[in-house]
Amino acid sequence: MPAAESGNGKPLPILVVGGGIAGLTCAIEAAEAGNRVVVVEKSPCLGGRVAGFHQYFPKLCPPPCGLEINFRRIRNNSLIAVHTLAELKDLCGKPGDYEAIIRFNPRYVTAQCTMCGECSRVCPSETPDPFDYGMSSARAIRLPHRFAYPAQYAIDREACMDGCHACADACRYGAVDLAQKPVLEKMRVASVVVATGWAPYDAARIDNLGFRRFSNVITNVMLERLAAADGPTGGRILRPSDGKVPRAVAFIQCAGSRDENHLPYCSGVCCTASLKHAAYIRSQYPDAKITMFYIDLRTPGELDHFAAKTVADTGIELIKGKVARVQEHPGSRDLLVTAEDVLRGRKITREYDLLVLAVGMVPQTADLPMGIRTDQFGFVTEAASGIHGAGCARFPADTAASVRDGTGMTLRAMQSVSAGRES
Ligand SMILES: Cc1cc2nc3c(=O)[nH]c(=O)nc-3n(C[C@H](O)[C@H](O)[C@H](O)COP(=O)(O)OP(=O)(O)OC[C@H]3O[C@@H](n4cnc5c(N)ncnc54)[C@H](O)[C@@H]3O)c2cc1C
Repeated sequence: MPAAESGNGKPLPILVVGGGIAGLTCAIEAAEAGNRVVVVEKSPCLGGRVAGFHQYFPKLCPPPCGLEINFRRIRNNSLIAVHTLAELKDLCGKPGDYEAIIRFNPRYVTAQCTMCGECSRVCPSETPDPFDYGMSSARAIRLPHRFAYPAQYAIDREACMDGCHACADACRYGAVDLAQKPVLEKMRVASVVVATGWAPYDAARIDNLGFRRFSNVITNVMLERLAAADGPTGGRILRPSDGKVPRAVAFIQCAGSRDENHLPYCSGVCCTASLKHAAYIRSQYPDAKITMFYIDLRTPGELDHFAAKTVADTGIELIKGKVARVQEHPGSRDLLVTAEDVLRGRKITREYDLLVLAVGMVPQTADLPMGIRTDQFGFVTEAASGIHGAGCARFPADTAASVRDGTGMTLRAMQSVSAGRES
C-alpha cells in the first residue's frame, strides 16, 4: 500500500503541540531517529513552566542549563520546525494521516530585530508581567524573559494603547510590523503528541486561605520567581507588602488539591517543591523559621532521599493537619494561621510573616480541538490512535518523569508514521 507522504516523497511529520520539556524531548528524540517534526508552541518562546524556576529538585541546578542543551539540539537538527505563537485549532483524519489546522498568531516583530531594546524603552504601556505571575510589570513590547528562545521580542497587543506606534517609530531596523494578522494553515501530519503541560490552580478560588485578599499570601510558583535572579526582587525572597525579609514562613500543602471542591487529585510534586522552597529560604536567611502544614507528605521514589535531607538541613517543622483559616493583622500585615494539629490532637493558631500556598497542576487541554480525548480532570487519555499525550498534559509529573514520558511517546508517534507508510 502507498505510504502517506507529504506530496514531496517524504513521510508526513509528527506534530508536537507544546514546547515545554516534554514536547521538546519528544521532538528531539523523534528527529534524532530520522523523523520530521513540527512543534507548535502557543507562547512566544520555548521551555514551558520550568523556564521560570530558580532551581530544579533534586539536584538544585538552574533550569537554563538543561533547557539550553535541548535548544542546541533543536538548532542543530534540520528535521525540526519550531513555530512559536502557534496553536492547534482543528484536527481530523486517522493514524498516519491527519489534517491539522494551525493558527499562527502575529509576533509583530520580524527577524530584522537586533534586540537593541529601544522599542521597550519608548513603549508607554505597562502591563503585569505574566512570567513573574504579576509581581512585576513589563512593557507591551518586550523579550518574554532573559533566557527566551528564540531570543526575539514580541508585542502583547492587548496591553497596547489604542493607536500607539511608538515602538515602530523608534525601531531603526524596521523590525516592528503592527499590521501583521493571524494566519490559519492546513498541515498534514502522521501523528500528534499533545504536550501542553500545566498551569497553577487559581488560589483565589480557595476562600479560606486569603490569596489576593492578603498581600503576604503567595503561591509556590510565585516563590520560584521571587527566588530567581531575573525575578521581580533580583532573587531576594522578600515580603510583597513591605519588602521586608521574612522571618517566619508557613507552607500550606494541598492548597486546593485532593479536595472535591477544587482539584480532587494529588499533583505529586508539590511536597517536594515546597521542601525545595524551604531550602531556598534557609539558604538566604539561615535563621528563618519554617512550618509546613501537610495532609500526607508525598515524596515518591528517589525524592524521599531529597526530602529527608532537606528536612534535616532546614529544620523545618512539619505539622500534619489542614488549615482552617487565615487572617491578616491589619497593621503589620502578618498572618494568623489556624489549623488542626492531627498528631497532637489539638487546634493551633500561629503567626507568620509570609504564607506560601502549594497549589497543584491543572492540565492545559481545555482549548484543544475535539477528538483529543481527556479524562474528567482534563488529562489526555491514552487512545488507540495517532494522538498521544506527554508530560503534564497526561498526568502530574516532575521534570524527570516528563522527559521519560516524552521519550516514550516518541515511540508511539513513530509507530503512527509507520502506520501511515503502510496504509
Ligand atoms: C511549584 C512547582 C515547582 C516545581 N519544581 C520542580 C522541580 O524543581 N523539579 C522537577 O523535576 N519538577 C518540578 N516541577 C514540575 C515541572 O514543572 C513539570 O514536570 C514540567 O513543567 C512538565 O513539563 P511539560 O512540558 O509537561 O509542561 P509545561 O512546562 O507546562 O510546558 C507546556 C508547554 O506547552 C505550551 N502550551 C500550552 N497550551 C498550548 C496550546 N494549546 N498550544 C500550543 N502550546 C501550548 C505552554 O505554553 C508550554 O510552553 C514543579 C512543579 C511545580 C508546580
